[in-house]
Amino acid sequence: MNFLKFFRRQIQVARVSGIPVRIDYRWFVVFALSAWVVAASFEQRTVLSQFVKLDAGPAWLVGVATTAALFLSIFGHELSHALVGRFEGIESEEIVLHPFGGLTRLSREPDNPRAEFRIAVAGPSASFLFAVVAFALMYVARAGEWRAAAAAFSIVAYWNLFIAVSNLLPGYPLDGGRVLRAFLWKRYGQLEEATRIASLGGQLIAGALVVFGVWFYLRAADPFRALWLVLVGLFLWDAARAIRAPRRGRGLRTVGEAMTAPVSVEPDATVSHFVDHVLPLHRQEAVAVAHARRLHGILTLKDLKDLPRERWHRTRVSDVMRPVAPDLFVGPQTPLARAERLMTENGAGALAVIDGAGELVGFLLRGRLKRRVKVKA
Ligand SMILES: [Zn+2]
Repeated sequence: MNFLKFFRRQIQVARVSGIPVRIDYRWFVVFALSAWVVAASFEQRTVLSQFVKLDAGPAWLVGVATTAALFLSIFGHELSHALVGRFEGIESEEIVLHPFGGLTRLSREPDNPRAEFRIAVAGPSASFLFAVVAFALMYVARAGEWRAAAAAFSIVAYWNLFIAVSNLLPGYPLDGGRVLRAFLWKRYGQLEEATRIASLGGQLIAGALVVFGVWFYLRAADPFRALWLVLVGLFLWDAARAIRAPRRGRGLRTVGEAMTAPVSVEPDATVSHFVDHVLPLHRQEAVAVAHARRLHGILTLKDLKDLPRERWHRTRVSDVMRPVAPDLFVGPQTPLARAERLMTENGAGALAVIDGAGELVGFLLRGRLKRRVKVKA
């Protein structure tokens, strides 16, 4: 098992536009395998190489170059997700290139269905574009009688076309599944439910791929393609199930279950009192400002950054806090998912929790929710 774990360990290979690009060790195996398949097809004049025959040396050169182009186009696909995400105000934590494609990990869920839709279609659009460019290069190479290059470009072109179309299958976490999720989200107004249905679609498609792979093996006796379909199916199954599993087993659904006891400071207290007496005890980015359990606002460390130190003892907390506003508090019954979105959007990274009587009963900090119940996979 340790051997398998080793192959799943990720290494960072680049940083593009500030986004770390990672691969795991399995990737090298798949890269070598792909270079070999392409090289062998050129040595043996198969359909893949469109009947061009090359010696071993040039064949391997074309194999490696073609495979590099294939992986670069997957990277381009992922990067366009990340860049459109940035345009929608969401940074990406990483781009991972795994053996069966790529993954862009956004730092949070999109704010609305439209943003979700745009980020989702960015990838397949890029792949379509790469396909068109590669087809154009193929025709240029063909006109110039560079037959090996033309064959290589046609592999890249069809590959990108395949990536674009297969990613549009309506199963989350494929891009088509994200598009489906965007439509469901817009229609029913619930992100969680939309995600659940869309990832169910992902599992259905994964199951179909596996069945199709087995059928392919039995009917077409093509073990290579059959194995590939089965592997992709299993991979997608795993990814879709991972999305559904934590939701099923998650114990925390409401704010009341995830909130912590409120740390609060009086509105009349000075900033130096807060810095000297409250902050050392509760190292957190934000606290509630309250008097007699009535919320006055939220004070964040961010808001104190611009205040010169010599004014700390003269400035009152109420002068620098964010005054109470609808996006700064929720009730204990509010769904946790909505609270998490609100916390991201309100700029404070925190939420006060107010009960029905208007009293401050809890506090939520982004990234500091009570630990969720983990499901053993
Ligand atoms: Zn994609």
